[in-house]
Amino acid sequence: MKIYNTLTGKKEEFESLEPGKVKIYVCGPTVYNLIHIGNARPMVIFDTVRRYFLYKGYEVTYVSNFTDIDDKIIKKANEDGSDAGEVATHFIEECNKDMEGLGIGTDMLHPLATQVIPEMIEMIQTLIDKGYAYESEGTVYYRVRKFKCYGKLSGKNIDDLEAGHREIKVAGEEHKEDNLDFVLWKPKKEGEPAWESPWSDGRPGWHIECSVMAKKFLGDSIDIHAGGEDLIFPHHENEIAQSEAANGVPFAKYWMHNGFLRIVNKEGEFEKMSKSLGNFLTVRDISEKYPLEVLRFFMLGAHYRNPINFSDELMESSKNGLERIKTCLTKLSELNEKATADSLTEDEKKLLKDSDAFRVRFEEAMDDDFNTADAVAAVFDFVKFINTNAVDGASREYASALQEKLCALLEVLGLSTETGAGELLDEEVDNLIQERNEARKNKDFARADEIRDLLIEKGIILEDTRDGVRWKRK
Ligand code: AMP
Ligand code: ZN
Repeated sequence: MKIYNTLTGKKEEFESLEPGKVKIYVCGPTVYNLIHIGNARPMVIFDTVRRYFLYKGYEVTYVSNFTDIDDKIIKKANEDGSDAGEVATHFIEECNKDMEGLGIGTDMLHPLATQVIPEMIEMIQTLIDKGYAYESEGTVYYRVRKFKCYGKLSGKNIDDLEAGHREIKVAGEEHKEDNLDFVLWKPKKEGEPAWESPWSDGRPGWHIECSVMAKKFLGDSIDIHAGGEDLIFPHHENEIAQSEAANGVPFAKYWMHNGFLRIVNKEGEFEKMSKSLGNFLTVRDISEKYPLEVLRFFMLGAHYRNPINFSDELMESSKNGLERIKTCLTKLSELNEKATADSLTEDEKKLLKDSDAFRVRFEEAMDDDFNTADAVAAVFDFVKFINTNAVDGASREYASALQEKLCALLEVLGLSTETGAGELLDEEVDNLIQERNEARKNKDFARADEIRDLLIEKGIILEDTRDGVRWKRK
């Protein structure tokens, strides 16, 4: 299995630090807003990486943080007249709903920055003790030039960086020894949340939280550290500087970075989707039009290191593609139910053997730096094969073997293998509720109950209020 490692700039054979175990850390979102579909890309991609390791028989420990204290969260809290904790808690809940819709596994840890403040203070103190950090007027800075390998991930040269930084003076950071130095701890400003520390009442810088959470939940050395490519510099470079200086061992063996999700601008050019450019669509926006599984499937249609351009046409084609796969699954389960013969015929034995070629192709694609685009193509060809070779009269064993093989691949891609209709769209829920209201009005209680049961089955919770029926997803 080969992985492209940003650290070496090469595809390398994957060898885990401990046999049979993989430790993965993925930088998660800052929670001051609903996540946009660009933020969802690393979630989907690295969840798929996680699923493929599981498929290969590895034991996986997967950690992805929430940054729940940050300037942007404080700003949002001030605008809303609430506090930073409330803002973060609210958007973490919303993000969890989006992740569930996207099929992100639940078998992972999502620590919060504010839960590891004592550990951050401890690591900062270690860095000070070792001469890698210094305090000035309540602020603690990392002494970048002291870390000899600084720049090894991004390929940046420290003197070029210095030249670029010469003119930059950040307010409140006048006491830095060197413009390259970055903040590990900063004193609070009026009205900001703060924690006690040996240097000031204040809060941690952004970079230190990931170094600390990786250490706490995975250990000093981890197999894979991942995130979007915008994080290579300075975030991941700074994480390496902090972790390796504090722990004295290599931090992550493989560094993986996804390319950007882009969207077309007024000039007709594709640009990175980002909150700051204001060109974003939230995952929630998409969920009003499509089951979120379609968004996941759309993302898997490109190699993760390439940019992916969002468009309505591509979403429509992803929707159709996914429907083709689902129809095939439904057909297999119907064949299974209808089957009269139990065991395989000679022809079926041969066909099953032939069908193994699709699994092989799928694995080859995934083994080649998680080429999900080719893996999806193998799934489509498998679907075509099934449509041609699984016909009325097939034996039960044949239909269920094909079903199992297809489901195993879909499971890796994080696509639901349930047959029948999937998740309901918001509009469909609204229509059903309206129909239920009409039925009740007409005293057709049987139909009203039937609709209620259907909604419950689809994970929709109904609340009868004085203003009518409200609903939410489970
Ligand atoms: P943020 O909340 O901006 O720190 O982003 C959380 C994660 O989403 C990081 O791994 C980013 O690299 C990633 N990310 C943000 N925007 C995009 C985008 N347009 N395409 C792909 N990944 C993105
Ligand atoms: Zn991080």
